[in-house]
Amino acid sequence: MRHELPVEQLGAMGPGMAEAIQACVHCGFCLPTCPTYVELGQEADSPRGRILLMKEVLEGTLEPEAAQPHIDRCLGCLACETACPSGVSYGHLVSPYRALVGKKVSKTWIQRLKRWLVFATLPHPSRLRWALRLAAGTRWLQPLTPKALRPMLRMVPPRLPKQVTLPEFSPAQGERRGRVALVAGCAQQVLSPEINEATIRVLTRNGFDVVVPRHQACCGALAWHVGEPEKARHTARALMRSMPTDADAVISNAAGCGSGMHEYSTLFAGEPDEAEAVRFSSLVTDISVWLTKAGFVTPDPVSPVRVGYHDACHLAHAQRVRSAPRSLLQGIPGITLIELQESELCCGSAGTYNIDQPDIAAELGLRKATRVREADVRILAAANIGCLVQIRQHLDALGHETEVSHPIVLLDRAYRGESLIRGALESSKA
Ligand code: SF4
Ligand code: SF4
Repeated sequence: MRHELPVEQLGAMGPGMAEAIQACVHCGFCLPTCPTYVELGQEADSPRGRILLMKEVLEGTLEPEAAQPHIDRCLGCLACETACPSGVSYGHLVSPYRALVGKKVSKTWIQRLKRWLVFATLPHPSRLRWALRLAAGTRWLQPLTPKALRPMLRMVPPRLPKQVTLPEFSPAQGERRGRVALVAGCAQQVLSPEINEATIRVLTRNGFDVVVPRHQACCGALAWHVGEPEKARHTARALMRSMPTDADAVISNAAGCGSGMHEYSTLFAGEPDEAEAVRFSSLVTDISVWLTKAGFVTPDPVSPVRVGYHDACHLAHAQRVRSAPRSLLQGIPGITLIELQESELCCGSAGTYNIDQPDIAAELGLRKATRVREADVRILAAANIGCLVQIRQHLDALGHETEVSHPIVLLDRAYRGESLIRGALESSKA
């Protein structure tokens, strides 16, 4: 059955939304891959159910308020896109829908306060650092804070890594093979600066000049995925214009940022600078893809170690990148790569999801940590800062000592002759 939609009423993003709705044949193949359907077992919290709800709202036969709780519970993980045999492009539906309809739905004061706190801090590394220190120092006040804000406080790490100022230019070592720009990420700079340092060392070691513009703005993914396209475009423009125009690639080492930048064609649809955004987007490449395509120097063998790999949704589903990070890990002699059960099921991090939907996020985090424990690995690798923090927290909750680390950090340690096992991301235990 195909559905007709009033595309002309949906604006520049309309054709993609209508196409996604029309392509769904209600087969249900996506249901078992959807984390919220797996956890809640409700049709309305499945991809198929949400597509129907969005269609009814867009056609004016359902009030947006009735659909919104189910749309809010969607992680945007895009596992449904991977599973769908009909090629439904769910990503071209849910973010534009949130942008179009979400803002018309009224929010409680606590929802508005949480949203304000997120945007006032997360996309601004210096403010985030300050806010996390303040929150860590006032833990004793937690019982006095509104219940809805406590999940935010529970995510605050007991201590932060030392602040790192990255060099704006790092020259290639040996034969020069190209010049790349690095997107440093917002929260990542604060929570695990080691990832960017390792990325620069690995790239230069493999013959690439690395440019890291000092004043980078947020890529806009955070705002875009919660339905704030103007805010997203504002920071995305600032980021694009801060980047060198002569780079062979714009390297991303955070799946969420990489995926967000690959969505600029939708975010900028109909805007005067659409062509510039599309060109920029075409240069964005995940570090694992760049290195495996270019070829990278094999490090000396490390002590034998079992390493599990978690597929970050915004890498595996949104960017279809699965083999490159595995090849990178397998390129380190001594690593035995272990596949996790349910590797492609979201860990519950998903941008601000563990702030907005803490109960489901916690269930998914615990489920992921349990799969990691069952795999009996010493290190769990994942290529997204949100996943690393979420999985670390839930492994700690289980009392499990598996370390979590970004694949590029492991490659860097191997190059430097260091042990791969070394508190890669600060444990959430003090
Ligand atoms: S798998 Fe695709 S076509 Fe089938 S119900 Fe899900 S979204 Fe619709
Ligand atoms: S994006 Fe993820 S949570 Fe949302 S409907 Fe698809 S599979 Fe479910």
